[in-house]
Amino acid sequence: MLPIEDFFSLLQIPSKIVITTHQKPDGDAMGSSLGLMNFLLKFHHQVQVISPTNWASFLNWMPGCNTVLDFEQKKLISEKIIKEADYIFCLDFNTLSRIKNMESHVNNSPAKKILIDHHEQPQREVFTYGVSIPSKSSTCEMVYDFIVASGNGHLIDEKIGQCLYAGVMTDTGSFRFPATSASVHRMIAHLKDAGLKHQYVHEQIYDSALENRLRFFGHVMLNCMDVMYEYNTVLITVPKTDVQRFHLQTGDTEGLVNMPMSIKGIKMVAICIDREGERKWSFRSKGNIDVNTFARQYFNGGGHANAAGGNSLDSLEATTTHFRNVLPTLKAVLSDKEYQ
Ligand code: 5GP
Ligand code: MN
Repeated sequence: MLPIEDFFSLLQIPSKIVITTHQKPDGDAMGSSLGLMNFLLKFHHQVQVISPTNWASFLNWMPGCNTVLDFEQKKLISEKIIKEADYIFCLDFNTLSRIKNMESHVNNSPAKKILIDHHEQPQREVFTYGVSIPSKSSTCEMVYDFIVASGNGHLIDEKIGQCLYAGVMTDTGSFRFPATSASVHRMIAHLKDAGLKHQYVHEQIYDSALENRLRFFGHVMLNCMDVMYEYNTVLITVPKTDVQRFHLQTGDTEGLVNMPMSIKGIKMVAICIDREGERKWSFRSKGNIDVNTFARQYFNGGGHANAAGGNSLDSLEATTTHFRNVLPTLKAVLSDKEYQ
């Protein structure tokens, strides 16, 4: 993987560019993709964002979101665009398995692949150019760095700012996680100068849910939450009957995994949701509890040290039993008094 700086001189040559991101894109995935798209359009490239799957409706306000293709819905046209692309930007994921059914098409495309990502252990051999910095707050911050380092910071406008702000805000838990560096705040200052309306972004993302989502959260807190003080850990299990009963849509469970962290002393939260075809895990932790390694080792997943995900083809009961069986491997760090 060559350094991303080697791509800068190519920015000026109008090309066919695809931007993709991980399945079920979150604020950072969609924000970085659309922030980059709105930037690249200024150089007269042909740019198409393709998402491997659908996404939460609370992202639809983003400038340009109405042009994004959902690969699962628009397979033939997406395949053609991927095949004919000169460059494919891969944002906010580290391994091609994260783009689900698009993986083989991206792999087989003659296009040069470019990585911009902040997850651990990227699949470097797949990418011609790239940058991977796990200490970065978000891929949106990295797209901002890319724009500024290429000498084009002055091209950042309100549209780009709204997209990039959304991803930094969501990936930093509204600017509270440790990766919220001074440079993140300097970036936000620049975005504000460029016309960012931050309150609008917060309202679109956090104040646009339907009633059923809040009632679902209430139900989960009351009935689906196991607080294991011995391990300073909370386990939430959501059976398929609840997914159906509360009519959960893509994105409705986002944020749920963070809520039990508000209990004093809790250092790790795991949530398992019985989805169509798989049991989807999300893990959050504080301090030196490495859920990236834990998710990789036991749940076919990965992510960041303090926020990771995984999946299982076992039944909900079998995979949560597995969780309870492997949790003691973290007992020493979970009972470490230093982080309480
Ligand atoms: P979330 O719990 O919000 O879905 O994901 C937390 C972090 O872990 C995100 O950075 C996400 O990209 C990553 N992640 C989630 N699920 C998986 C997975 O199945 N595999 C890998 N490698 N990363 C995941
Ligand atoms: Mn991210």
